[in-house]
Amino acid sequence: MTSSALPSTDDLRARARAALKNIGVDVPEGNDLHARTPLTGEHLFGLTAATGADTDEAVTAARTAFLTWRTTPAPRRGELVRRLGELLRAHKSDLADLVTIEAGKIRSEALGEIQEMIDICDFAVGLSRQLYGRTIASERPGHRLAETWHPLGVVGVISAFNFPAAVWSWNTAIALVCGDTVIWKPSELTPLTSLACDHLLARATDEADAPRDVHRLLLGDRAVGERLVDDPRVALVSATGSTRMGREVGPRVAARFGRSLLELGGNNAAIVAPSADLDLAVPAIVFAAAGTAGQRCTTLRRLIVHRDIADTVVERLTAAYARLPIGDPFDDTTLVGPLISTGALDAMQHTLSRVQAQGGRVLAGGGRRLAEAAPAAAYTEPVLVRVGEQTDVVREETFAPILYVLTYDTLEEAIALHNDVPQGLSSSIFTRDQQEAEIFLSAAGSDCGIANVNIGTSGAEIGGAFGGEKDTGGGRESGSDAWKAYMRSATNTINYSSALTLAQGVSFTAQ
Ligand code: NAD
Repeated sequence: MTSSALPSTDDLRARARAALKNIGVDVPEGNDLHARTPLTGEHLFGLTAATGADTDEAVTAARTAFLTWRTTPAPRRGELVRRLGELLRAHKSDLADLVTIEAGKIRSEALGEIQEMIDICDFAVGLSRQLYGRTIASERPGHRLAETWHPLGVVGVISAFNFPAAVWSWNTAIALVCGDTVIWKPSELTPLTSLACDHLLARATDEADAPRDVHRLLLGDRAVGERLVDDPRVALVSATGSTRMGREVGPRVAARFGRSLLELGGNNAAIVAPSADLDLAVPAIVFAAAGTAGQRCTTLRRLIVHRDIADTVVERLTAAYARLPIGDPFDDTTLVGPLISTGALDAMQHTLSRVQAQGGRVLAGGGRRLAEAAPAAAYTEPVLVRVGEQTDVVREETFAPILYVLTYDTLEEAIALHNDVPQGLSSSIFTRDQQEAEIFLSAAGSDCGIANVNIGTSGAEIGGAFGGEKDTGGGRESGSDAWKAYMRSATNTINYSSALTLAQGVSFTAQ
């Protein structure tokens, strides 16, 4: 642990109250949902969860707002998102405080999360003037074929605790410029951050003269999410969370022919080739594996190192792990904050005992609970484990800072190991050999939605589409043309001739 003492729950409650007040949110009251902080593991505020009737009413309101919003010109819809971006800039520090208090992120990463929201707002404002369709060559004389894009309807956003604000903004900024309305069911672990985001969007809505019900927030646990999932008026369910959750949500939405966009668990790997620049690779690996206390979907969980350099890499990583400052995430010197809960630490310890029973050797850390003075909190050292083979435990996602080290002899073998897991989110290779890098990025290489060279698996920019394959769910959010998931396309055939010409040369002369 770093030398600084942990803040008290009273201090954190006061800091959360101050951040909410600056943003304009009244301190919530209720007793069926609890805002708590992983910094001490203790209760902050009681809140009120949405009932089934609240959920139904929110869908009705969002559906009614959609009927106006869908015909509002897209650049005007962009004005709303522009205003949201301005408010996020103005309250960046307050929002980051809430993210640290509720999700336990170190200050720099919490500020980065809010910056990501600002970035996606900028992207979405530009997008509001670029929702392009195509004109397609028609086989018939005097005809034009066109593809047009239209808003989809109400979008239900279900989000996870570890990106309590950014994931909402990726979905919401894009959905709003696309002409959709949004209902947000955030993680039950991060309600204060979502109250703050919702309030800022409501302010932006008033200032941009947009319908208030383009956005609704529903606090609550999975039961609230399930009600959204089953409501046929929700055109798209964008759900971010565990693969377990996606396995329940995907089939339920499909059963009513709704659309889903699934962003689920990862089990990300990096290959370290003999030519890798280790001065670059080692810090990148430590950030990707231990940053956010191993609680990113893109966290590096498997390191596949060439046998010739494995001992050197392990030695350097072990030394770096031993120096990692763990503790109060508000302390600027801390690099590793707490796990979200003692349950997460129990799961980590369970995984460690299973992998050790399968022959895994712990090289650094140990999964011990630190900060005895805060018994309800879950601070621990990131762990490095050397494993001889990719067992069932290694192939699972444990949402904690455990990095498994495997070795390889040929690139073909490394890629086979890399892809031999159920998940397919993020990946990277550290190499100075261009041929190896290109093979890794080719169709014969990484099977993930994100594949990087000489950079870690985590910390994506918003300009690219974000998402993964296989058990990660197949969804794409954020940049590139991910916006198409939030719209429906129509193909238009326009006959501007005076003749009725049928396609494929079909003749049908009716008098
Ligand atoms: P979780 O699956 O426990 O919960 C995520 C959200 O889904 C919460 O809002 C929860 O209330 C809701 N939910 C759970 N079961 C549901 C159901 N049956 N129907 C409707 N809603 C339901 O996940 P978590 O612990 O909050 O987050 C960690 C997980 O999220 C990890 O697996 C991580 O990899 C994943 N994640 C993925 C991405 C990505 O973009 N791929 C991003 C962040 C987190």
